[in-house]
Amino acid sequence: MPIFEYKCNECKKEFEKLVFAGEDNNISCPECKSMDVVKKMSASSFMGNNSLGKCATSSPKGFS
Ligand SMILES: [Zn+2]
Repeated sequence: MPIFEYKCNECKKEFEKLVFAGEDNNISCPECKSMDVVKKMSASSFMGNNSLGKCATSSPKGFS
């Protein structure tokens, strides 16, 4: 299940929320109820064995 991290731009509170498909555009801050929240990338939501930045150096071709 996708758990995303969010940060509220109003009160600066950071929180995690379990988000189902189609619900991720209707997130409000649990603290101040503001809709002005930004989604953060959570490392724990990825599979785990892909280290960020590794592909940039070890695979010069493959994409594009
Ligand atoms: Zn807030």
